[in-house]
This record gives sequence, structure tokens and C-alpha cells, in this order.
Amino acid sequence: MIYADYNATAPLRPEARAAMIAALEVQANPSSVHGPGRAARKVVETARAQVGAAIGARAQDVVFTSGGTEANALALHGVVAQLERKCTLLVSAIEHEAVIKNAGYAGVGVETAYITADGKLDLDWLRDRMAKWDHDRDGLPLMAIMMANNETGVIQPVSEAAMIVREAGGLTHCDAVQGLGKIMVNVGLLGVDYLALSAHKAGGPQGCGALWVRSGAPLKPVLFGGGQERSLRSGTENLSGIAGFGAAAEASVRDMGKLQALAAARDAMEARLISEAGVTVFGAGVERLAQTSNFAIAGFRAETQVMAMDLGGVAVSSGSACSSGKVKRSLVLAAMGAEDALADSAIRVSFGWDTQPGDFDRVADVWLEAARRTVLKTN
Ligand code: PLP
Repeated sequence: MIYADYNATAPLRPEARAAMIAALEVQANPSSVHGPGRAARKVVETARAQVGAAIGARAQDVVFTSGGTEANALALHGVVAQLERKCTLLVSAIEHEAVIKNAGYAGVGVETAYITADGKLDLDWLRDRMAKWDHDRDGLPLMAIMMANNETGVIQPVSEAAMIVREAGGLTHCDAVQGLGKIMVNVGLLGVDYLALSAHKAGGPQGCGALWVRSGAPLKPVLFGGGQERSLRSGTENLSGIAGFGAAAEASVRDMGKLQALAAARDAMEARLISEAGVTVFGAGVERLAQTSNFAIAGFRAETQVMAMDLGGVAVSSGSACSSGKVKRSLVLAAMGAEDALADSAIRVSFGWDTQPGDFDRVADVWLEAARRTVLKTN
């Protein structure tokens, strides 16, 4: 089976597995002051330093969470609480549901920030909106913009957006879940105030993530209890998960060049699918993650393609992988103005650290074979 669904979950990296197994031997609570407790603390702090280094941050500004969803939730609810709701959220139309839905439950006004047909945040719209911002009525602007889109791989103009929002006196949260290990994520260069990460997208374990918080940025906890993680996220730490996350973060940044080199094979696959079947590739004209391809041909439903490819030995997903299983139209492609018939037939191929050179070719072979049996036959 060729696994081409890394944007849903990347297979566990060997470095992460080894770190997790070692951490499982450390059977103590990191908050305990005795020797075993201190050994557990060391595991957590080593991983914190690794995750911090991977994003150009100080270790002490990294707060471990149960994953990307919780990191996004902590950022959005935490800042709204600290600002006593005197803010309005600006959420890009292509954010992951973990951002969109948490914004919706934050108890403040939410505005959708526009996206261009290429799938990028519309910076002209943002400049214009910030120029007209009414601080008395809307409070502080709080922008949520992702680093790279999980469906199309389109890389977002985060640093430009953060600067525009900062000049208007606002704050920016970046969901960098799909960025870590795929493109450089440097909190200083991005100029954001909060940044969410998830271990399992970078070859770490599922159920572990982190929120980076700029020193001094407003944030209240949303979980209360034992006061772990500088009281920003109470709850005994997921020791082995955190150890695996640290190792994966380090390895994924080390191997980033290899991942970026996948662009040539991805582009060759897309060129073949365009010439032999006339597919539409979403976000083809702008900077994308090198390992992601989202394409469609009207009339060949995504679920049918996913099943046909599964039978052909290739694992891919339709639309947003986090919601596959429940088939629903992609909001991302809709925001980009894709026709319904095309959006309904979009599939995502995403590769990563263990991808072999011929894998893209194999995906094209299997897809073309399925298409020739169905949609290309009838066209
Ligand atoms: N943000 C993005 C962009 C994602 O792709 C995902 C998962 O698909 C998440 C957040 C949620 O992360 P987690 O699965 O760790 O909760």
C-alpha cells in the first residue's frame, strides 16, 4: 500500500518511536520532586527545547497540549477571555474547523477574511478592513490565519497579514499544524503572537501538540487544575507523547530539504494528470507545500476515487481528511470559487518523510486507470 495521506496523519518517525519507548520507561509524574519525577521532568523539558528550536522560539514559550485542536482552542478562547471579550475575530475562510468552530464559540463577533481564487488570504481586503477598523465598536482585531492549507497545501502570507494586523493594534494567531517540517516555521520572522502545532502531522504521535505564545501576549487558561504548563494548560503531561513530539519536530526540521525536493515529482504527476485526463489542480499558480496535490475532474466523485485508489493500493483522502468518513463539500474549495461539480470530485494526495521516489508515478497510474474505467470512458 502506498500511503499518500500525510496531511491527515504522517506515519510515526523512527526517532519519535524510539523517544516514546524510552519515555514509557520513565514511570513518574513530571511534577514530582523525587528522582524519578525529575527524570520525567527532564523528558518534558528536552522535548520543549526541541519543539522551541524547530520554530525558532524560546523553550519556555511553548505550552504542550493534547493536539492542534486544543492548541487552537486555547489561543482563541484564551485571548478572548484575557481581553474580556473586547475584541473581534477575523478568521480566514479556509481555516481548519478547529479554528472556525472555536471562533464561533468564543462569544465575540467573528468576521470571515476573504480568500483569492488561488486560495490565499486576500491582503488587499485585509488592509482595507484594518484601515476602517472601529476600535470603539469592535475592540481589538484578532486575526486567525493558517500557515499552509491542509487541503490545497497553499502557503499563506502570514508575516504580511500579521504586520497589517499589528499596525492596526491587533493580534495574530497562526495555525501552523500543516507547516511544521514542510516549510520553515519561525515565530520571530512570522511576527505572530500565537502559533499552534500538532505532533502527528510531523511524524510524531497523535494526541499531542503545542501552542507557542509570544512572551507578554494576553492569554488566559481554559483548563484549570494542577497548574502545569505555567498554569496555561493544567493536566499531567502526556510524557511519551511529548517525547515523541520533540523528537519528531527535530527530525522533521532536519529532513525538510528532502520533503521540499518532492515538488519535482509532484509537479510531474500533475502535468501527466493534466495532459492525460484534463484535471484541474487547485492552487497550482501559487506557492504550495511541495508534498501536497489537490486535483479534480468533474463527474468523478471523490468518494468513488478514494475507494478505487484504495483497491489499487493507494491511500488518499477526499476534501479535508479530518472530516473524511463524513462526506461534505469542501469549504476551502468553495471559498476559492470552485464549481460544486468540481469541488465534489476533488481528492488530496499528500506525501512525506517516508515517501519513495516512484510513489507519485504509482498514484498517477492508479488514478488514471480508475478514471479510464469510469469518467474518461463516458466523456
Ligand atoms: N489545524 C490543521 C490545519 C489541521 O490540518 C488539523 C488536522 O487535520 C488540525 C488543526 C487539528 O489537529 P489535531 O488533529 O492535532 O487536533
